[in-house]
Amino acid sequence: MTLAYLLLEQGTDVDITVLEAESRPGGKIGSERIGGYLCEQGPGGFLDNKPKTLELCQSLGVSPLRSSDSAKQRFLFSNGKLNILPDSPPAFLKSDILSWGGKFRMAGELFVPRGPADETVAQFVTRRLGREALEQLIDPMVSGVYAGDPHTMSVSSAFPRIKQLEQEYGSLIKALIKIRRERKRREGVKAASEVSASPGGTLTSFDKGVQTLTDRLAAKLSTKLRTGEAVQGISKNPQGYQIVSSKSTYEADILIFAIPAYIASDLVKDLDQDVARILAEIPYPHVSVVCLGYQKANVQHPLNGFGFLVPHKERRRILGTLWDSSIFTNRASEDKVLLRTMIGGAQFPELAELQTGQLQDIVMAELKPILGLRGDPDMAQVYQWPRAIPQYVLGHQARLEAISNRLKAYPGLYLTGNAYRGIGMNDCIVNAYRLAEQIHVSLQ
Ligand SMILES: Cc1cc2nc3c(=O)[nH]c(=O)nc-3n(C[C@H](O)[C@H](O)[C@H](O)COP(=O)(O)OP(=O)(O)OC[C@H]3O[C@@H](n4cnc5c(N)ncnc54)[C@H](O)[C@@H]3O)c2cc1C
Repeated sequence: MTLAYLLLEQGTDVDITVLEAESRPGGKIGSERIGGYLCEQGPGGFLDNKPKTLELCQSLGVSPLRSSDSAKQRFLFSNGKLNILPDSPPAFLKSDILSWGGKFRMAGELFVPRGPADETVAQFVTRRLGREALEQLIDPMVSGVYAGDPHTMSVSSAFPRIKQLEQEYGSLIKALIKIRRERKRREGVKAASEVSASPGGTLTSFDKGVQTLTDRLAAKLSTKLRTGEAVQGISKNPQGYQIVSSKSTYEADILIFAIPAYIASDLVKDLDQDVARILAEIPYPHVSVVCLGYQKANVQHPLNGFGFLVPHKERRRILGTLWDSSIFTNRASEDKVLLRTMIGGAQFPELAELQTGQLQDIVMAELKPILGLRGDPDMAQVYQWPRAIPQYVLGHQARLEAISNRLKAYPGLYLTGNAYRGIGMNDCIVNAYRLAEQIHVSLQ
């Protein structure tokens, strides 16, 4: 929808039709009000450090809502309890998330030589920072972003910035010191203290939830967006492409797939078996989102932060919980709290088979001792995504190159969305801007 909107806005001379299979546009993005709680079905927001998303918001006339300052603190469930995730080197030294042996091993990163062009996240982290850092710090981060398995994901595709720091500076610690020094020289002490290897930025959404963005895009597209109309087949003809949907047949010069890779694979299989095979190689584990609303009085923990992540080695059955009503205070009324737990992912394939009631029971049982929950929730809602988040596993870059080479034979056929070059909303939007420009230029 972003791409279609941008093409219309920049006055590109095209007649656009957006076909959406579901009756509600937005895909994974969806915000639902349930008895005074605002539940997010998928993403809870985007980081405000990518200017294109904010530019899009401004163009659409929607005001971003930043997460509360009091939600900056993040927690990690390790050694059987919630620990504050240290946000500076001195705090890290004082914390007991890692043993002294683990901390010394991390410091040894300074002397580790550069590695191969690509390797798994686990290989990269074990090599540079040690096994303990992988298990306690990076494994939960991979769960938090991708619901992924560090032993299969490609570091260059999933965390390109971190790999780039190694290649440029020879060491992540050296990189942080140098970038901090440079920034201090340019912008002063405060800015320098904010430098870290993490993506940075503040989580941002909207007063009425993240769906505000897709609703506004849908409104702008108006009748050009056709919901409840699934594409069922495509073929190439001398003029361009023929698209057969559940309701009609279309002829088009340009055809853009902004759908999950496994669905695109199915649709292109008669056109190009190689592209179809490569697209099908991008795995999508299931993830469920369990929203629980409680009376504040029935939660002993103060929920004074963003939420917590759980390393796989803790052997709990949840990936982590976001304290949504602490992040955006209007997600529940003052005497209530909203907890949003992610469950499933690449490291828990067995949970994919469970029913919503079973998922809810698991989450309640896990959260009860961690947060001190009493009694039943006021509200419970489960959103199941059987194939939720694309995994950039080892070989992802080679797959993208192979697809891009094959697509040269099909002028006007493009793939976009979160399966390829960034899985978050910001990435989808940046890629939509890039593709809009590319199409605009190609039509000049
Ligand atoms: C649980 C969860 C939490 C997440 N949290 C965050 C977060 O906090 N921040 C963040 O930035 N990102 C997050 N993400 C990722 C974010 O949701 C994605 O970046 C984004 O929604 C992907 O958009 P997309 O358009 O590529 O794909 P989708 O949202 O999957 O949209 C694809 C669309 O294509 C439609 N479609 C499929 N097949 C057809 C067909 N044959 N014909 C017509 N239409 C079809 C679908 O109905 C759907 O509307 C999260 C994802 C999940 C699952």
